[in-house]
Amino acid sequence: MPEHEIREALASIEPDLVQITRLFGLPDEPFYTWRMTADGEGFTCVCEGMEQRTVRSVPFPETANDARVNALHRRRACRRLCRQTLYDLCRLCTGIHPAWGSLTGIRPTRLIYEQLERSCSPEEAKEQLIGGFDVLPEKADLLLETVLSQLKLPPPDDRYVDVYVGIPFCTTRCSYCSFSSGELGKGTLVEPYLAALEHEMEAGAQLLAESGRQLRALYVGGGTPTSLNEDQLRHFLSALLRCFPGACEYTVEAGRPDTLNPEKLRILRDTPIGRISINPQTMNDRTLRVIGRAHTAAQTREAYAMARELGFHHINMDVIAGLPGESLEDFAVTMDAARELRPESLTVHTLAIKRSSRLHLEQFPLPDAATAAAMTAMGRETARGMGLSPYYLYRQKQMAGAQENVGYALPDHACLYNVDIMEEQTHILAFGAGGISKRIYPDEGHIGRAPNVSNIGQYIERTDEMIERKRRLFAEEE
Ligand code: SF4
Repeated sequence: MPEHEIREALASIEPDLVQITRLFGLPDEPFYTWRMTADGEGFTCVCEGMEQRTVRSVPFPETANDARVNALHRRRACRRLCRQTLYDLCRLCTGIHPAWGSLTGIRPTRLIYEQLERSCSPEEAKEQLIGGFDVLPEKADLLLETVLSQLKLPPPDDRYVDVYVGIPFCTTRCSYCSFSSGELGKGTLVEPYLAALEHEMEAGAQLLAESGRQLRALYVGGGTPTSLNEDQLRHFLSALLRCFPGACEYTVEAGRPDTLNPEKLRILRDTPIGRISINPQTMNDRTLRVIGRAHTAAQTREAYAMARELGFHHINMDVIAGLPGESLEDFAVTMDAARELRPESLTVHTLAIKRSSRLHLEQFPLPDAATAAAMTAMGRETARGMGLSPYYLYRQKQMAGAQENVGYALPDHACLYNVDIMEEQTHILAFGAGGISKRIYPDEGHIGRAPNVSNIGQYIERTDEMIERKRRLFAEEE
């Protein structure tokens, strides 16, 4: 590999290296030096700092027929080696063992898939995570179990497209929220938004038909879709199902329990929507007040009772580990409620503080790593005790204790859309403010994107432009 290719591969690696040093609580400013070389066999990286020195080498990745694919694999190997060698140095200097070892990416599942594609057995793939990336055995187990659940689902295929529709309104804004959703306020933007959305969905339905692809999973998120009033919800769902009939899975986020009533649940139930999500996030009223959610734990219980009475058979529950001021005992209260309410799927997030959230502005400190780890372990044990298995997993920057988010589900209750959005192997047509449509080019390891504007007013004004962006994305090279 020529020198200039190494320079190009590592040109923008600094942010990745900062992520590594942060795993150990070390400063962002480099306290180390590194050097990468290539010979006829492979790459070697040397890292030095704090009077320590680490060295790692990897052979060049196996070659494919396509020169572009080869270059991509070499770039990846080169970057991974650089991160890994710095990780070794930080580990040597601090003695800290991060739960996910040197992995800082959003999708650690990718590494298991890579190993399985190389004909490794699942056990070998797991051992590679532990030996090659210093991942703790319990996290490697979790990851492998997640991938094995995913392999039971209908595989991704170029013939399929998922649909995402966003309703970006919430009754109040949660302090950790980083989405572009707007507070409902007097609701003056809702009707024009829904009209623009219907127009965009109609054009999208035509685009889907022209592409010759089939609809796979459909997800309505937000925001809080059930913050629409009954008439708006009925009208929206009728337009949605007219445009996109026949999905193998429909989900609607009914996120805030206080937005639900028997009529809205009946409207949802009388459609093919099989999966709803009612999300307490925590069952501690004090925390709910602190994080700006205007509902109580009792309202969550009422919402579950209503939904069960009306015959919903698949309810997902989202909870967050590490919320402001919560101890392990507080989190145990939420886990007790999960056991009591028995959702068919449970998603255990770990608090991540994003730049656009109120918690970031308030410089809220994340809980310590040991507490965050104990909470996610408790989430896993609770899920296991309820008969739920992990089926999707992702990580984010600035997560408490550098942990993870995991979706658990009963057998045959995994949400296909959640897997697809995380694994990025299925095309996505996204509608509404902030939605990002994706076209997957699996052979080239490339994803084309067509983002919609996030601002609700701009979205209403520029809907035709959003339609045109999608049209261009899916028209390329057809
Ligand atoms: S419910 Fe979700 S989208 Fe709405 S404010 Fe809270 S985190 Fe943001």
